[in-house]
Amino acid sequence: RSKRRGRGQITVYSQEIAQEMKRATQIEQALRNAIIADQVDVHFQPIVDLRSDTVVGFEALARWCDADLGYVSPSVFVPLAEERGFIESLAETLLRKAAQAALSWPKELFLSFNLSSAQLMDPATSSRLLSIIHQVGLDPRRLELEITETAVMADADVAQRIVSDLRAAGVRVSLDDFGTGQSSLGRLRDFSFDKVKIDRAFVSRISADRASEHIIKAIVSMCEGLELEVVAEGIEDFAEALKLKALGCGMGQGYFYGKPADAVATMRYLSDRYREVAASR
Ligand code: C2E
Ligand code: MG
Ligand code: MG
Ligand code: MG
Repeated sequence: RSKRRGRGQITVYSQEIAQEMKRATQIEQALRNAIIADQVDVHFQPIVDLRSDTVVGFEALARWCDADLGYVSPSVFVPLAEERGFIESLAETLLRKAAQAALSWPKELFLSFNLSSAQLMDPATSSRLLSIIHQVGLDPRRLELEITETAVMADADVAQRIVSDLRAAGVRVSLDDFGTGQSSLGRLRDFSFDKVKIDRAFVSRISADRASEHIIKAIVSMCEGLELEVVAEGIEDFAEALKLKALGCGMGQGYFYGKPADAVATMRYLSDRYREVAASR
């Protein structure tokens, strides 16, 4: 009896897997077409200097809405593009668009772009990225690349080489989602980063529990010693912003300062701010 039930469960399970694979293939096809048809978009979220309350740069975030599938999150389609071997063409489209948009911003603002783990395993990545921004005409010193610990760990030697080549060209590198991966501290010693982005998981609990506050305090103090800039991700309200400032966190990002918005809305956001700055002078 239990055997039959067990087999029944296996049947249901494999049907689920089949369903998932079918959906993945559906997404894959639609995404490949969207890349060709230039329908994958990039939005930008402001990164703010908490010491002066000024925008210092924007993080590019991939956005895609398919006619049949609806909105698909980048945390779904980026890993899929990696698995199915077309992350390179996706990343190229995204970086090209993002860099193009950044050309219209004030020159002192940087563009932060996420690199996927697959890109960090491919030795050709640094020259490919540099050639894209060269073609677009964006100064490499205005580019920042966000990488995660998990990505770095997949092939540490290749990743290290990519990071050092990029940094030699003037590109800055930040460690994204800090605190959620493994062996975080070792990575900070072995790699040369410019920035650490504290994961939203710590920031969102800062008002609720003291532990997160202590953890953030420790990260800030460690980064001071290592001469790394610290960015707190996912700041959603004023209270969180004040706490992070008090803890000495230099930079912040989150819905409180601005949600990711398309290139046009980003220009509007900037022109509003810059008018304020000009008026206050
Ligand atoms: P991430 O790089 O850590 O990006 C931050 C995520 O947090 C974004 O989600 C952003 O919209 C969200 N976020 C920002 N502020 C807040 C806040 O105050 N509250 C909350 N609840 N969320 C906030 P998104 O855009 O869905 O992206 C998810 C992940 O997908 C990114 O995490 C990144 O790992 C990946 N991703 C997005 N765009 C790209 C891309 O162009 N290339 C690559 N390789 N990965 C990308
Ligand atoms: Mg990021
Ligand atoms: Mg992050
Ligand atoms: Mg993340």
